[in-house]
Amino acid sequence: MELYYDLSKDDRILAVCDGWDAFGMANGGSKFATDVIGYPVWNFISGLDTRSYMNSIFFFCRSQGCPLSALYRADSPDMIRVFCMSVEPRSDDGLRLRHELVAEMPHWHEGRNLRHPRAVVQCSQCLSVQAGATWRPEPGRAFRSREAISYQVCPDCRHHLSRQIDTAMRTSPDRAAASGRLLA
Ligand SMILES: [Zn+2]
Repeated sequence: MELYYDLSKDDRILAVCDGWDAFGMANGGSKFATDVIGYPVWNFISGLDTRSYMNSIFFFCRSQGCPLSALYRADSPDMIRVFCMSVEPRSDDGLRLRHELVAEMPHWHEGRNLRHPRAVVQCSQCLSVQAGATWRPEPGRAFRSREAISYQVCPDCRHHLSRQIDTAMRTSPDRAAASGRLLA
């Protein structure tokens, strides 16, 4: 399964792939094609931290003219799901974002999720939950309600992206432009 959508040079959603609405209906999604086309993608990304993370990827792809991919979790109520997001530059300075399901398995330890006593800080990419000064992998849905979650990007996910960008920069023929300006 692969979904994709295209962004304009100012990050508005230009078009979505065939099957977008069918996937949304099958997975309890609430954003159908008519709800997203023409709107800035930032309207659909929660939290300044996650927007900054995504913007780093967008900036890299546009400035270097090369694709970048990152894994993230987007669970369904019943399944742990790992997706690969690939961001590819387009000739009009837009981007194509592909989302491909690469692994899934049933949730486990579902009961513990109900014991979160209050709002949690959760990584929007790997769904780890902040526990004091550390982040711990979360074996199931880490929340009781969406209102209880503050989304950030954990240090591990930031570090992983930074490493990926460093590697891509070393192999890119034109890497000077983006040097030092990513993931500040
Ligand atoms: Zn993370």
